[in-house]
Amino acid sequence: MKKHIRLSIQFLVLSLLAFAVIGTFVGSTISSIIVSKNNLEENYLIENQYYAQKLAITTDSLFRNMMKSLTLESEEEEYLTGDSNELYQEVKRTLESTDFFNSVYFVDQTGHIRASAPDRELEGTAANRIGAKEALKKKVPLISKPYVSVTGKLILLISVPVFDDNGSYKGFIGGTIYLHEENSLTRVLGQHPKHVNDSYVFVVDPDGHVIYHPDSDWINVNAEENEVVQQVMKGNTGSQEVMSIQGIPMLAGYASSESNWGIVSQTPKKSVMEPTIEMAKQVSLIALPFMLFVFVLSLAMLKKIVNPIRMLAIYAKQITLDPSLPTPRIPDWYFELKTLKRAILKNVDFYQKKLTYVESESNLDPLTGYFNRRSLEEKLRNLEMYSIILFDADHFKTINDQFGHQVGDEVLKHISELAKKETRKNDLCFRIGGEEFLIVLPETDIAFAQSIAERIRKTTEDTVNPTGKPVTISVGVGNSPDTASHFSELFKMTDQALYKAKEEGRNRVVIANHLNNND
Ligand code: GH3
Ligand code: MG
Ligand code: MG
Repeated sequence: MKKHIRLSIQFLVLSLLAFAVIGTFVGSTISSIIVSKNNLEENYLIENQYYAQKLAITTDSLFRNMMKSLTLESEEEEYLTGDSNELYQEVKRTLESTDFFNSVYFVDQTGHIRASAPDRELEGTAANRIGAKEALKKKVPLISKPYVSVTGKLILLISVPVFDDNGSYKGFIGGTIYLHEENSLTRVLGQHPKHVNDSYVFVVDPDGHVIYHPDSDWINVNAEENEVVQQVMKGNTGSQEVMSIQGIPMLAGYASSESNWGIVSQTPKKSVMEPTIEMAKQVSLIALPFMLFVFVLSLAMLKKIVNPIRMLAIYAKQITLDPSLPTPRIPDWYFELKTLKRAILKNVDFYQKKLTYVESESNLDPLTGYFNRRSLEEKLRNLEMYSIILFDADHFKTINDQFGHQVGDEVLKHISELAKKETRKNDLCFRIGGEEFLIVLPETDIAFAQSIAERIRKTTEDTVNPTGKPVTISVGVGNSPDTASHFSELFKMTDQALYKAKEEGRNRVVIANHLNNND
């Protein structure tokens, strides 16, 4: 079965208001989230690029300084003349004088390690790995690609050739960076100021191999597939959203150093959400009391608008059930309400008047203005002590016959007017038959009723009526409760008194009591 929901204007307005307030609140929260997220993302991209550029410069200067320190070292006499001990002292001093290298060694032109610090044991071994081979072959200052050294460590080799005064090649001095251990690169690059929000920096060599990464597992991994790595390998600088090598969406800034190293600084995209949500929360907290204030204020105002309409509707419904309902006080402070109220009240007034009129009309005899027989019962309902005067025109048939029915009517009207004049304000006059009338006199004893009856009879007899002659009436008088306490009984007995008056010669008053007493 279909369930009927009764929609009231209050419910509709409240729903609409709630919808508007919640909608605005949700809308503003969502838009603040979107705006703040976009701003933050853009900021991270710019910051990361700026930071990568800064680190590229730092990295370049780091390697330049490394080269410079090794170049200075290569000019020392010991590398041409010194014995094994002196050479050791020399490389040891080089290692300790700066923070650049994890180890320093000297390889002679035959490719054998002549001195090594801190690991002296390596002296005499052949430096046959790719980095050393390249340095021996090229005889120029070099930075190697990452490779595994004779000690089994993944290293970078920074090397500078040694020449004697005649310019003949004597070998090279190499400084190493242990990529998997703490080194000068990690010290410079690892201090990312944004580690708090999971940002980090990594560095790739010109072939796309990772040479620095905060997670050492990624070191030496080829990251060529990463879009940003491809950009730095081309020597570009910029920023973009990218999938990291771990498969996480990142906001990356990148820059290439002079030595074609690529520096990438990146922040996970999801790190943006946390401050964004925090901001949305704050915005909501600030907006909430304001929204509530607007809600309550709007509610109060809407109530002022809606309540009178509701009162009007309730009144319009109730007035159809009870037309005697008093008009309630309904404020009408705006045009539509005023018009509606006026229209309803006007209609109610119109129908009330019509109703009263119809009601009263249906109780009245149109010829004489007396109450008719129909209203008798209702008018007598609350009366206990009263007298009645019942009278009938004498020989009325003759009047009709002589003057016509119309004149007869006028005579009846004339008689009714005469009788009415003799009654008091509270007396009730009825036309209960063609030429038969009843007057009810509340709180009146039989003697007084009799005197009134006599006055009516007399004035009728004495007054010339529309026929040009007087007419007479015969009258019966009775009293409740003296004659009888029930109206039907009282009426019957008074009618008998009237009949008696006719019988006794008409134009007279007969008291019903007397009749009883006489019987
Ligand atoms: P009485 O009462 O003295 O015995 O004689 P009566 O001629 O009045 O006799 P009755 O009461 O029997 O007749 C009443 C007559 O009144 C009959 C009718 O023609 C006439 N009549 C009744 N109603 C009306 C009326 O509304 N208008 C007119 N013009 N005549 C009416
Ligand atoms: Mg009659
Ligand atoms: Mg008569």
